[in-house]
Amino acid sequence: MSRRNLAGLSALLLLVAASAAEAKQWKYAGMHPRSGQPGDGLCHLETTHVHSAAPLYADTLYRTRDNTYVFIGDPTPFGYEGPRHSYYGHHPVVLNVIVNIDVDVDVVEYCYHDGPHYHAYEPPPRQEFVDKEDVHYYAGEYPEEYRRENPKLVRVNTVYRGWNAPRPAVTFAPPPQYHGPIVQVNVGVDVDVRVGSRPPPPSREVIIIREDDDHDHHHDHHDNGKHKGHKNKKFKGRD
Ligand SMILES: [Zn+2]
Ligand SMILES: [Zn+2]
Repeated sequence: MSRRNLAGLSALLLLVAASAAEAKQWKYAGMHPRSGQPGDGLCHLETTHVHSAAPLYADTLYRTRDNTYVFIGDPTPFGYEGPRHSYYGHHPVVLNVIVNIDVDVDVVEYCYHDGPHYHAYEPPPRQEFVDKEDVHYYAGEYPEEYRRENPKLVRVNTVYRGWNAPRPAVTFAPPPQYHGPIVQVNVGVDVDVRVGSRPPPPSREVIIIREDDDHDHHHDHHDNGKHKGHKNKKFKGRD
């Protein structure tokens, strides 16, 4: 092969490589952060659609189904202004409900946001939640896959820590039906927010994992009796 032909071939290969890179697209379903940087806001397209940009923090803020990325995180840092629901701690998220499709078996994933946080979606049907002062708490058991994925997915809190977004004000102890981690989350801490850079490592001052051995007999002292007479035993009956 002549030198000229070789040059032509490598030019062609470069062209092929360039167009392959251009053609790379990522499928999304439901609302999601536009770029992953808070200042860039949210994409509000509900149906499955594609972007040429890969999801940022894909391994913690998204779950995938059929190669489609579904954002399950708290939309608050991205300027979300729609209806929002308050949650405390870790809970199941049902992907097919979020993206509004019919499936025979629910696609259940777990949200690993520590402490109080918001979602655009309400608690999924067919899952057990308890409400206390308008905050949703997961009241079911956590399966093995939740525990297995915990070390990886709990890093969502590292990502959000740098964004310092408002959280629901929760001034009382979780109801006893909630078996997830109880984590003191610092709000308003002075964090150096550098958009686009890696967030600083988490500084979790107090982490109390409540063991499941203090059933109903002495939980009253956890909240100084503040919940007496309140609606902390209201179950959401869903089936
Ligand atoms: Zn989009
Ligand atoms: Zn959540």
